[in-house]
Amino acid sequence: MSNLLKEFQDYLAKMNQYEHVVTLLYWDMKTGAPKLGQDGHVAALTHFSTESFAMSTSEKMGEMLDGLAKTEEYDILTDTWKFIVKEMKRDYDRNKRIPADVYAAFVQTQAQAGNVWLEAKEKSDYSLFAPYLQKMIDLTIEMTGYTDPGKEVYEALLDQYEAGMDSATIDRLFEDLKEELIPLVKRILSQEEQAACPVFSGYFDPNGQRKVQEMLLDYIGFCKDAGSVGESEHPFTLNFSSKDVRLTNHYYEHDPLSAIFSAIHEGGHAIFEQNVNPEYDNTVAGSCRYMGLHESQSRFYENILGRNQNFWLPIYDKLGELLPLFQEIPLEDFYREINHVKNSFIRVNADEVTYCFHIILRYEMEKAIFRDHVPVNELPALWNKKMQEYLQITPANDAEGILQDMHWSDGGFGYFPSYLLGSIYDGMLLDTLQEELGNVDELLQNGQIKKITAWLNQKIHWYGSTRKPKEAIRSVCGKEISAEPLIRYFKEKYTKIYSI
Ligand code: ZN
Repeated sequence: MSNLLKEFQDYLAKMNQYEHVVTLLYWDMKTGAPKLGQDGHVAALTHFSTESFAMSTSEKMGEMLDGLAKTEEYDILTDTWKFIVKEMKRDYDRNKRIPADVYAAFVQTQAQAGNVWLEAKEKSDYSLFAPYLQKMIDLTIEMTGYTDPGKEVYEALLDQYEAGMDSATIDRLFEDLKEELIPLVKRILSQEEQAACPVFSGYFDPNGQRKVQEMLLDYIGFCKDAGSVGESEHPFTLNFSSKDVRLTNHYYEHDPLSAIFSAIHEGGHAIFEQNVNPEYDNTVAGSCRYMGLHESQSRFYENILGRNQNFWLPIYDKLGELLPLFQEIPLEDFYREINHVKNSFIRVNADEVTYCFHIILRYEMEKAIFRDHVPVNELPALWNKKMQEYLQITPANDAEGILQDMHWSDGGFGYFPSYLLGSIYDGMLLDTLQEELGNVDELLQNGQIKKITAWLNQKIHWYGSTRKPKEAIRSVCGKEISAEPLIRYFKEKYTKIYSI
C-alpha cells in the first residue's frame, strides 16, 4: 500500500469517528432522548456534523484525492479503492462548489420548513407552509446550480437519489404501469366491496406486537448480533456499519398490521446493510446510497414475500400464540385483508397496487414544480385533480392531501420515484429468483425463506454501493429495467384474489 493511501485511510477513519457520533446522537434523539433534551442533542449533532463536513471538503482532502487520482497511484489501487476515490472526488467537487452561505441557508430553511410543515399539517392549513415550500424550491434550484451545473434541475435531483436514473426512463416505466394498472384497479373495484373484518381493529397488546416483530425479524434473516430494535414515532433504519444496523417501529394498539409490515419492511433495509461486504465498511462503497435499490429490498420483503399467503403458512400459528386475536382469523381472511385493494388518501397506508398511483402523482407534481414552474398556491388544486384522475377520490382537506408527507419540507424533491422504482426492480428480481431457485410459493410454504435471503445477500447486498442500480439489475437479471414483470405479478396475483 502506498504511503498516500495509508494517509488517506487514516484520515477517513478519523472522519468516520465524527460520523459515528452523529449517527448515535440521531438514534438517541429519535428513540430515547426526552423532549427537553432535544436541544442539547441538536447542538452536539450540529457540531460533529460540521466537523465531519469540514474534513470532507478540506484542502487536505482535495490534495489527497488529486494525488490518488494520478496514474502512478491510481493504477495500483484495488478496484474497491478505485471506486472509492472516484466517488469521493465527485462528491468533493460537488460540495466544494456550494458557497458556505448558501449551504447554511439551506440547512436552516430545512429545519424551519420542517417545523412549519408539521404545524400546517396539524392545522390542515396549506397557506402556512406555502412560503416555506417556495423557499425550499428556490434553494433546491440554487443548490443544484452549484452541484450539477448545466444539468436540468429535476434530472439532477433524480440522479441524487438513484444514480444513473433519468426522467425519460421513469416516464416510460410509469406510463407502462398507468396503462395496465388503471384498468386492473377498475376491475378489482367493480367487485362487490368486501366487508371490513371487525377483528382487525380489536386490542392488540404492544408487548405481543414486539414479540411478533422479533419472531418476524428472526424468520427473514435479520442478525441480532449485528443489529437492534428501538421505538420511534415513524419507523426507520440506520446503520453504523454492517456490524451495527438498527431499526425502529411504532406499535398501534388497534392496528397490528402497521407494525407487522413495518417490521418486515425495515427488516429488509436492515438485512441489506448487514450483508454488505464488510471490507466496504465506513467508506462510500459500503452502506447503499441508492434509494430505489434500497427500497427494492425492503419492498421485496414487505410485499413480494410478506403479502404472499405462503409466507405466513409456517408461522401463522405462532402469530396466533403471540397475538391471540389472530386465532379467530382464518389465514385466508388474513391474506385478503393484507391485500385489500381500495382507493385511499394516505400513501403509507395504501395497498401495493394503488400505492403505484400515489407515487406517480408525486412524480408528476415534482415535474410540474421544476419543469412547468406551477406556482405553489396552485399545487393543492393540482394534487386534488390528480387524486381524482388516478384514484377517483378528492381529499376533504390538505392534511390528507398535499400536506401528508414530510419529504418536500426536507428538500427531498426527486425521492418519491425511488419507492416505485424499487417495486419495479422487485418484479424483475422475482422472475430471476424463480428461474434460479424455483417457485417462490413453494420455497415459502416449506419455510425456506432464508434461502431467498441468502440469494439476495449474494446477488444484491454484498455489493453495497459499488454498482449503480441500472448496472445491478442488468447484472442480476440480464435485462434492462422494465415494468412488465411487476405488471404481470399484479395481474396474476389480483385476478386470483378477486376472481376477475
Ligand atoms: Zn423504506
